[in-house]
Amino acid sequence: MRGVTHRITATREDGTVFEVRYGYGRGRRRLLGCRHCDWQERITHGGARHKGLDHLAQAHGALGSPRMAADPAARRQTALIMLACCAVAAVVVWWAASQG
Ligand SMILES: [Zn+2]
Repeated sequence: MRGVTHRITATREDGTVFEVRYGYGRGRRRLLGCRHCDWQERITHGGARHKGLDHLAQAHGALGSPRMAADPAARRQTALIMLACCAVAAVVVWWAASQG
């Protein structure tokens, strides 16, 4: 899967952590894919976390965490974009101020 944006993790009784990845596949289709088996499911609307946790519970006997964690790389990218927007806004304000 390409463009992973979220990871859904669940922990088994023995402490093993299982992970389902959520992101975009070919043609920007939203997909859930298990890291530990071939399971993959196309998501048409909502419920991605629920489906991921269901799979982890049924196939791997792992209980999920209550929330979906954003992928660190995706989060970094979002932070960079926001930083870039702020920098552009600051330059525009500075330019406008220097014209007056
Ligand atoms: Zn699996």
